[in-house]
Amino acid sequence: MKVKIEDWKNKYLSFAGRVQLITYVLASMQVYWSSVFILPDKVIKDMEKIMRGFFWCQGDMKKGKAKVKWADVCIPKEEGGLGIKSLKSRNVALMASMFGILSLISKHYGTSAWYDSWNDFGPLAATISHREMHRHSFTEATRVCDLHNQHNWLWPVNWILNYPMMAAIPFPDVTNEDKVYWRNFDGFLGQFSSKIAWDTLRPHASVVVWYHMVWFSSSIPHHAFILWLLMKEKLKTQDKMRPWDLGNANTSNLVCSLCNLQQDSHDHLFFQCGYSKLVWHKMKSHIPIPGISDEWKEIIAKIAPIAHRKVARIVVAKLIFSASVYFIWLERNARIFKGEKRDLDKLVNIIFGTVRLKLMSVRFKNSQHVRNMKIAWQI
Ligand SMILES: [Zn+2]
Repeated sequence: MKVKIEDWKNKYLSFAGRVQLITYVLASMQVYWSSVFILPDKVIKDMEKIMRGFFWCQGDMKKGKAKVKWADVCIPKEEGGLGIKSLKSRNVALMASMFGILSLISKHYGTSAWYDSWNDFGPLAATISHREMHRHSFTEATRVCDLHNQHNWLWPVNWILNYPMMAAIPFPDVTNEDKVYWRNFDGFLGQFSSKIAWDTLRPHASVVVWYHMVWFSSSIPHHAFILWLLMKEKLKTQDKMRPWDLGNANTSNLVCSLCNLQQDSHDHLFFQCGYSKLVWHKMKSHIPIPGISDEWKEIIAKIAPIAHRKVARIVVAKLIFSASVYFIWLERNARIFKGEKRDLDKLVNIIFGTVRLKLMSVRFKNSQHVRNMKIAWQI
């Protein structure tokens, strides 16, 4: 894996490209290796460190470079992550499958009567004492198949009286081979698969309202990534800078590179800043939805509930919003780090042109709305 990464380090890859590479290549390598061996914790930690370094620094991991915790990156996009599957959860899922942790074994020839979790109540050893087992001539080695005669349970009548749950244990299907079953969060019992295992064991978070605003089939990957950071409020704006980010300089002297009036922040850049606000006003005039705010949180509140719809006006709104955020962020950084400056009209033209180019490649169902949109965008 390290060799592969060394090779990629020499090429410039966008964040979006890095997510794709990590998702497809590294994860599949790891799945291959860990389905052969279970990886020790130390190896998992090292591999994740390489992935984090590649992702955030395109090389070795440096302190303070990660904008979002790796655990938060490794959850599905719907829940606010980037959908990279955490090696640790995968490894635990594979371990579970190998050792039968959390799994149920149905037929009973190889299954321990006392210690395997073969019925809904868990291992019987938790209920029935050793003394009780031995009193009725069972041993530690008793298997589930020793508890029945193919037709009925053979356990003592007083067990049913003393442990009423015993009466509720269904008689096993004696015709099949032993199988591994998997019980997921909902208590559903299914055939084991490592996909379900992963889904059960991975960290869960609640679904984020903005999912369809950031990730949609016609979204532009590097715009989506910056918008994702904005949604998580993880762009490194001046209000988040600490003295050590600037070699102990005084962070209170920083001013927004777009308006030179005050420190920038998420709220300022999107779109309270005089420059950004003008850009946004020009861009939002192309959104065929009335009453769009100048505050990014209010824009999300308005568009997110309808963002899953694939109609033209909503796709246009999403493309304009993410492109505006992306190019304003880029302009802000170009001014700070490269001393390059574009005037407002030029930036608006670039945003318009980028969205227009994207719209040319999106297929919509023909309707009056779509025809109007095409005329407006000169497509
Ligand atoms: Zn400003």
